[in-house]
Amino acid sequence: MKAILVTRHGGPDVLELADVPVPSPDPDHILVRVLYAGVNYIDTYFRSGSYPSSPPYIPGTEGCGQVLEDPSGDIAPGTLVAWHDAPGSYAEVVSVPRGRLVAVPDSVPPAIAASMLLQGMTAHYLLHGTRETRPGDTMVITAGAGGVGLILTQMATELGAVVFSVVSSEDKERLAYDAGAAHVFRYDANLAEQVRSATGGRGVDVVYDGVGKSTFAMALDVCRPRGLVCSFGSASGEVEPFQIQELNRHGSLFLTRPSLGAYVSTDDEFRFRAQAVVRAVESGSITVRVHEPYPLADASQAHQDLQSRSTSGSVVLKVN
Ligand code: NDP
Repeated sequence: MKAILVTRHGGPDVLELADVPVPSPDPDHILVRVLYAGVNYIDTYFRSGSYPSSPPYIPGTEGCGQVLEDPSGDIAPGTLVAWHDAPGSYAEVVSVPRGRLVAVPDSVPPAIAASMLLQGMTAHYLLHGTRETRPGDTMVITAGAGGVGLILTQMATELGAVVFSVVSSEDKERLAYDAGAAHVFRYDANLAEQVRSATGGRGVDVVYDGVGKSTFAMALDVCRPRGLVCSFGSASGEVEPFQIQELNRHGSLFLTRPSLGAYVSTDDEFRFRAQAVVRAVESGSITVRVHEPYPLADASQAHQDLQSRSTSGSVVLKVN
């Protein structure tokens, strides 16, 4: 079968289309023919070696496709499913752990289903796990027109939160407003001041920051006393080491650096969050915006575009 291989750590060019063996059936796994594979920022960290990985390997962890074979016979061949946490998803066939897939309703197109779980479950745990969101909460969301950013904004506003989104361009600004943001800002030296003044000087209850290195100082500055800084990603690079006293100086702030894995640590928790996402997509309470799909062979271009900030919404590869 065709698959993308990371042949060595490096830039997007290390992603190569290759012929590899079809995965062998395994009693705890379901074999799936991949229609679309989701592309996520974390795939770039593993590819570059900033997160541990051992080339050669097939990247990707999520997607949507049709069941080819369930060794237990529980799931009929042809059933449309979506999954997260199946390493090797940038491939024509993937072996998905039984507890990490969900059925896809007929009304949800496969390209959307392929990119809804990782980013949707992330938005879900940020709003319901890291901290329970309350109506009227104010929050800053950086990378507000990205894959996670647009879903997080929609889920947060649905819960009655007031979102201050941060984006880099006019097009992204429009998308953030469409997702429900009350105010949209650009990355700017005076960003913290601008957001503070929009909150009457108080600062926001929570900062959800997926950008990292270049926005961390702003995140501390913009948070109200005893508020929460949730640093959940590092699109601009890892946050530099800092003095813990900074949290005191900024008003007894709370700080967390969460990851999805810890919030879907059991199959039950996975099902709970995944089904909440499927329901939200099916009912139309969130709309997953998918950037123009890339053919599998163009995975390298997809990574290039994601890292150069030229995509908005979620990114997928069209596989079959
Ligand atoms: P996005 O679609 O949001 O793409 C990244 C965005 O980051 C860009 O579009 C860009 O938006 C913004 N950005 C700001 N500065 C930079 C920079 N220097 N280089 C590149 N991009 C920059 O990606 P995802 O939705 O997949 O992920 C968003 C973040 O969330 C990532 O950091 C990812 O690792 C993290 N994440 C964390 C999870 C967790 O559980 N901890 C789970 C899922 C994602 P703009 O142009 O508007 O600035």
